[in-house]
Amino acid sequence: MLSGFELDLPDTLVGVLDLIADGRGTPAVPLAGGTSLIVDMRARRTMPNAVVWLGKIPELRGIQVTQDHVRLGPCTTVSDILNSDELAGSGVSLVRAAEAFGGQMVRNAATVAGNIACNSPASDLVPPLMALDAEVILESRSGSRTVALDRYFTGYKEDVRRTDELITGISWKRQEESSVDLFHKLARRKGDAITVVGVAVNMAVSDGTCMRARIALGAVAPTVLRAKRAESMLEGETLTPGLIEAAARQATEEASPIDDVRASATYRRHGIQVLTARLLTQAWGRLT
Ligand SMILES: Cc1cc2nc3c(=O)[nH]c(=O)nc-3n(C[C@H](O)[C@H](O)[C@H](O)COP(=O)(O)OP(=O)(O)OC[C@H]3O[C@@H](n4cnc5c(N)ncnc54)[C@H](O)[C@@H]3O)c2cc1C
Repeated sequence: MLSGFELDLPDTLVGVLDLIADGRGTPAVPLAGGTSLIVDMRARRTMPNAVVWLGKIPELRGIQVTQDHVRLGPCTTVSDILNSDELAGSGVSLVRAAEAFGGQMVRNAATVAGNIACNSPASDLVPPLMALDAEVILESRSGSRTVALDRYFTGYKEDVRRTDELITGISWKRQEESSVDLFHKLARRKGDAITVVGVAVNMAVSDGTCMRARIALGAVAPTVLRAKRAESMLEGETLTPGLIEAAARQATEEASPIDDVRASATYRRHGIQVLTARLLTQAWGRLT
């Protein structure tokens, strides 16, 4: 049962920014697809007095691919990602995450900014975006700033976003041709399941040398994180099965998984090791 709240439906970004700043005396909370916020409001985990729906502003939704960059509007849905031909060529790991995301009804409503802003360590769109070096654009009445997704989360359910700021875009540089990005979600079943381990890898290779390695891990720490020490073992090197295994082992060291109803910490560590090694091997194999 929902408790009472005020609902606003502005049709301009300025209108939203005014309402989340102080609205009519009570700062409003942004509502996008509602697949997380409404669930939390029903369970009374959060009880905002005022809510502002973003769905009446078409400019907030969509995928723009230019020569250099990809930009997602905050209200771009998981289904939009799945239906995008352009992302298949410049963010395929994100499309893989969208394929593994919830069920069809949730995919039609759930948005990319909602996935980031709900701050879950198991958010499926975050590992591929982090491995793509994505940035989050935050806007408020006093201006805008850009934060690397890698630096966005500060702790379990904590982030750098002020309550008067709205995520208005997510962008990353288009990948060079000699690069590959991959994602795998391990869960208890294929559809509609919370992630047990999510691994995203992004690699660029030139002349038989690994020039860029990114490894992002989901559901194995208080936040999605990058295994940076494992990445640095690979950059500048010609990868061998032994080096890949060592980097995957290092990635497990950088995580801090917990036991919960879905899996033990030991199983999660094993999942990181196996999936990281598998994705690195696939990426290297495709690029050499
Ligand atoms: C049945 C079910 C299955 C699910 N399966 C998955 C899954 O497989 N993988 C997964 O990762 N998640 C899953 N989820 C969780 C949820 O669907 C996602 O996190 C989704 O992306 C949230 O997006 P939303 O648009 O619905 O956000 P909302 O519920 O509208 O909002 C979530 C939070 O984000 C804030 N917010 C929204 N937009 C913005 C913005 N532009 N700027 C700042 N803050 C904003 C809201 O204030 C709120 O705090 C599932 C949920 C359900 C109910």
